[in-house]
Amino acid sequence: MPQLDAEHPQWFDWRWQLQNNLDGPQLADLFGTAHVLAQPDGFEVGVTPWFAQLCRESGGAGPLARQVVPSAAEYSHAAFERDDPLGEDPHRVAPGLVRKYPDRVLLLVTDTCASYCRYCTRSRWVASHQEPLGRDALDEAITWIEDHPAIADVLISGGDPLLLSTRRLSNLLDRLAAIPHLRFIRIGTRVPVFLPMRIDADLATALRPRRIPVYVNVHINHFAELPEYTRSKLAMLADAGVPLGGQAVLLKGVNNDVDTLRETFYRMLTCRVRPYYLFHCDPVKGTSHLRTSVDEGLELMRELVGHVSGMAVPKYCIDLEGGGKVPLWPEYVEKKTPESLWVRGYAGQVQAYPNEVQSRDAQD
Ligand code: SF4
Repeated sequence: MPQLDAEHPQWFDWRWQLQNNLDGPQLADLFGTAHVLAQPDGFEVGVTPWFAQLCRESGGAGPLARQVVPSAAEYSHAAFERDDPLGEDPHRVAPGLVRKYPDRVLLLVTDTCASYCRYCTRSRWVASHQEPLGRDALDEAITWIEDHPAIADVLISGGDPLLLSTRRLSNLLDRLAAIPHLRFIRIGTRVPVFLPMRIDADLATALRPRRIPVYVNVHINHFAELPEYTRSKLAMLADAGVPLGGQAVLLKGVNNDVDTLRETFYRMLTCRVRPYYLFHCDPVKGTSHLRTSVDEGLELMRELVGHVSGMAVPKYCIDLEGGGKVPLWPEYVEKKTPESLWVRGYAGQVQAYPNEVQSRDAQD
């Protein structure tokens, strides 16, 4: 077991952190949880010393550890759970490239992550120990995008794209930015949470806006994932002109209470990370112990909307198998007529609101 504190001489070396990822038995020792015997179809286990230490500081086997420490519950599967709950595999159009929408594509550049989330939507593929998308495969994917002028937006994901070398990531962004019909590029990452020391001045420069902006959406589920060191790294990106968005997954025993969500979204905003999505946890095989009902998600949204700044309220989304994201919103309209809506305000009062441009009386 590596020494788990910042006094370790290589603590801030991100390669040392990756090389010393904690495995299942080490995590079980550390958090006093049952050691889950690896099964052939089990998802990769690995947690950076940085995040393991953060888990300890925030309550041992509490909300942070629950996201990354394996549980025997992973091996019971509900009938509706899927390996590929978003139905991505049938929409592969080139190596690493998934097209589910008319104007945007998902580019999966690596299957490696800094740590492995037990609810990962792509657990069927992540950590399958493939090389990052090779030169020929990447050429094929980029040629496909060049040949399809309807594509305006490329989301680079994986695995975690910020684990590519800075040179490789920068080259990829240069090549995409040179495609005239692209309007912007997005990167999805959890590196600022699992491996904040990966962010340095060179990486911030690589992520700078080019002809088109590069939006970085950071996966953050709990305010305790944003200690001061991580906040300073997000500030480095924001100062370099990188627009930052926040994505959270609603998880039972992690963030399914309004106080945690409120604090998480406010803390994102103080880091210049705009809360963007709150995803309902996808029905991936073996995740029912981490999933809430959709009703609970809607009730939590009702407790946020109007009670906190609109900037701190992300879109709550479910993702349909093959059908894309669907935003869900609590029901506020109690009754509707051609003349009026009866609408419930955030504090609970119901009042009428005109449903017409001009009243019928005025038309007469
Ligand atoms: S960081 Fe993202 S891709 Fe990696 S295991 Fe977690 S959810 Fe999956």
